[in-house]
Amino acid sequence: RMPEIRGDVKFENIVFEYEPGRPALRGISLEAAAGQSIALVGHTGSGKSTIINLLCRFYDPVEGRVLIDGIDIRDVTLESLRSQVGIVLQDTFIFSGTIRDNIRYGRLDATDEEVEMAARAVHAHDFIMKLPQGYDTEVQERGSVLSMGQRQLLSFARALLADPRILILDEATASIDTETELKIQEALKTLLTGRTSFIIAHRLSTIRHADNIIVLDHGRIVEQGNHDEL
Ligand code: ATP
Ligand code: MG
Repeated sequence: RMPEIRGDVKFENIVFEYEPGRPALRGISLEAAAGQSIALVGHTGSGKSTIINLLCRFYDPVEGRVLIDGIDIRDVTLESLRSQVGIVLQDTFIFSGTIRDNIRYGRLDATDEEVEMAARAVHAHDFIMKLPQGYDTEVQERGSVLSMGQRQLLSFARALLADPRILILDEATASIDTETELKIQEALKTLLTGRTSFIIAHRLSTIRHADNIIVLDHGRIVEQGNHDEL
């Protein structure tokens, strides 16, 4: 593993465009202290995913800098960045293989005990044990063994096991039954503890718990503050 970081994140006057002359971000400055949870909200096309893309260094800004612990992320190796910045996408990536392999993805050295501990922590253990072969059950990338909610919980277990200091989460919009929804909320709390997080938030409960809600519009921050302030 890479040297530990604290997880302070700073965007300094970021301007970015995918296509020349059509800026997707028009001067974004934001700060997240280590351990804080930031919710990104705004209409479609407002720039939420673009902020995430820059933090993951899928693209470099046209102007400005993205800093982690005060260091420009262009000055660290991608390997180091990837080990410190974890990402849970809305369309959860499940590959064909066992449940265990799916959780261990990103931490291939994890023991069976560690896999189970992560699954328990996010309330995935119970449903896994009800599957025909438990952790050894084979699932398919596009298969129907797992519900959307279960896929989410698996991706949380995977992220918890990988243990990145900074976590990005594109919250799923899919409708999920109330019981699973409650599990997901609790699991999310566990997952976010002690990490800096950026969440493209769709659930009101997530937005309510964020330390800072950033409202984007056409590539600019138009409002920010916590739920009480806004
Ligand atoms: P949504 O809620 O729909 O996911 P968003 O807030 O994530 O929207 P972005 O995907 O960040 O919005 O898009 C910001 C702007 O950049 C939009 O004008 C969009 O059309 C443009 N854009 C996004 N991705 C690309 C791309 N790969 N190539 C060109 N333009 C893009
Ligand atoms: Mg998006």
